[in-house]
Amino acid sequence: MSRDDEARYGRTCLLALNVCPFTLRQVIDNYSLRHAGSLSLCDFLEKNKHSLFHLYAKKCCCRYLKQDRTTPMYKSQWDSLFIQNTSSCRNGKQIDCPCKYDCKSGITTKVMDITLCCLVINNICPGVDINHIKTIRDIRNKLIHAESASLDLLTYNGYWNRLGTALCQLAKIVSSTLHKGTVDLIDELENRVMDPVELRELRNLIVDENRLTDLESVRALLKKQ
Ligand SMILES: [Zn+2]
Ligand SMILES: [Zn+2]
Repeated sequence: MSRDDEARYGRTCLLALNVCPFTLRQVIDNYSLRHAGSLSLCDFLEKNKHSLFHLYAKKCCCRYLKQDRTTPMYKSQWDSLFIQNTSSCRNGKQIDCPCKYDCKSGITTKVMDITLCCLVINNICPGVDINHIKTIRDIRNKLIHAESASLDLLTYNGYWNRLGTALCQLAKIVSSTLHKGTVDLIDELENRVMDPVELRELRNLIVDENRLTDLESVRALLKKQ
């Protein structure tokens, strides 16, 4: 494993784990306010509460969701968006159901990590190209579960180009300013020198996946240069 391979891994992680969630959050904000015409993110999530509930729950008070199956949304993700209220079910059912939840007021996309952003975009933001979302999620998972913290040149070029294209296309939906900012950031990161201490910090961060959810640590790393 060469120093170059390690540096390539580091730069790709910074792109995937820091820049991607930022862009995905902008896509959701833009979609909910401008495209869906919602008053706020809370308003948008509230309007789509039933669909989101179906991603999380195995049963619902409506007649459309009855069978047990594995669900794509975790309870912790649902709980980060919604809070239980004191209402009873409007269908008169005694099971856990969307009638018994409200979106957390004042919520922002900052509470959403990459996985939750992807889930929200794929399910309640129709029209956003899900291939870009799939690219981001796949590469993020490959980086996190990589056997060694290094990337050879060929793999790196593949990841970098695919991620870069996905990010630029998504940024373009939001605004020309975000698009330009994204292009500049990708160029800047591509030429970034990664020092060994920084790489070690990044590796520790990735081993401990729990610390990745808030991404503050990745952000702190990025700010160092
Ligand atoms: Zn339902
Ligand atoms: Zn209900």
